[in-house]
Amino acid sequence: TMATSSLSEFGQKYVNKGLGRLTEAVITKGQGSYIDLDDGRHMLDFTSGIGVTNLGHCHPKVSKAAADQCMNLVHGQCSIAFHGPYLELIEKLLPVMPDPSLNSFYWWNSGSEAVEGAVKIARLATGRQNIITMQGAYHGRTFGAMALTRSKTIYSEGCHPLMPGVFTVAFPYWHHHNLPPSTPEAELVKRSLYQLDLLLAQQTTPNDVAAIIIETVIGEGGYIPAPPSFLKGLRDVCDKNGILLIIDEVQSGFGRTGKYFAIEYSGVRPDIMTVAKGLANGFPLSGVIARRELTDTLKAGSMGGTYAGNAVACAAGVACAEVMKEEKILENVQVRSKELFGFLNDLQKNTVVGSNILEVRGQGLMVAVEFASPTGSAHDPMIKPDAPANLAKRVSKRCQEKGLFILTTSIYEVIRFIPALNITKEDLAKGCKIFADAVEEVVK
Ligand code: PMP
Repeated sequence: TMATSSLSEFGQKYVNKGLGRLTEAVITKGQGSYIDLDDGRHMLDFTSGIGVTNLGHCHPKVSKAAADQCMNLVHGQCSIAFHGPYLELIEKLLPVMPDPSLNSFYWWNSGSEAVEGAVKIARLATGRQNIITMQGAYHGRTFGAMALTRSKTIYSEGCHPLMPGVFTVAFPYWHHHNLPPSTPEAELVKRSLYQLDLLLAQQTTPNDVAAIIIETVIGEGGYIPAPPSFLKGLRDVCDKNGILLIIDEVQSGFGRTGKYFAIEYSGVRPDIMTVAKGLANGFPLSGVIARRELTDTLKAGSMGGTYAGNAVACAAGVACAEVMKEEKILENVQVRSKELFGFLNDLQKNTVVGSNILEVRGQGLMVAVEFASPTGSAHDPMIKPDAPANLAKRVSKRCQEKGLFILTTSIYEVIRFIPALNITKEDLAKGCKIFADAVEEVVK
């Protein structure tokens, strides 16, 4: 075996440079809300592997379910036959679907694949080709998903032309409308829906649009919950025009926002929903969930994939659904969320460094702090050229030096909080204190 001290250098030499990282140290272990590194650090983890390990690293019940499944069947190959965990997972999730009409399931490996599957279903079910996506959206890095991604140019740089037939509407985020954070939600929603009307009158007739795709909480674009009135407005436009509504719950699903799915806050019915990440707490598994009528006419063989619906990943998913219930995860999210918002709102309003904070936003344990920023569009009136540069990256780095992994997001100066959903009061408070100290040290 390799000497541990050389691992990081080995990785830097032999791993594709297209992969970015928070640290060059190598992870040796993950347990609950903590990660151990080969340089001896024991890190509090507010990233959850980008919103994946919702139940903490190596949740014993999930790991045991996977280990047991490993001794029975690893690879079932869904194009040869169903296997038990594939179906058990559907049985577990049927009762928690945001709408009972979501009753046709298909398991895949990654969120990107699920998004592409949703697009495929929408195109085949409607016989139309065009897709409308949101400014700031992130739907993945494979070619089809990349064509729907609008959060940062880095994801598609050098890869154009992308999948054609994709149109973009500004998500109701104040930056997108050149307005301050204090703008009433209703005003932002009105403007975004107006843009959608224009798009459907000037750029593509609704008769050519298969679907509108939207994250219920914009993730990589800045952690911005979609206002319920916006989702309702989209639902209306879809209903009037025979367009399907694809709700991407890859990052916001499985309790992350305090409901099983974030779409529940609006009561809006998705036609197709994509899930991944928290679905199996770290085992590669995603899903495309649709109304049965939409998938009934698909030809057998049009969907498929070698590892799609892997038996070990599905068994882990079944265990996750059980833990969600047994450990009352949604209740913990609601309690911890109040503590987190309490802390961050207080930091913004009642401390000296708070003047650097433009907005605290989010739902449940999917929360963001946006700093006043010298970056972004030169035409954005909210950009403050004299604000401290690269604040978010520097705060993230300082947090790491103090024992906390925390991520940035979007093209703006945003830090995102995505701790495990079962994080303790003490660990949450510990991370918050590190964050506040880091902000103070960096802006000084
Ligand atoms: N959709 C959303 C909302 C996501 O957050 C992500 C991943 N960050 C994806 C799709 C793509 O998922 P994956 O990385 O598993 O392909």
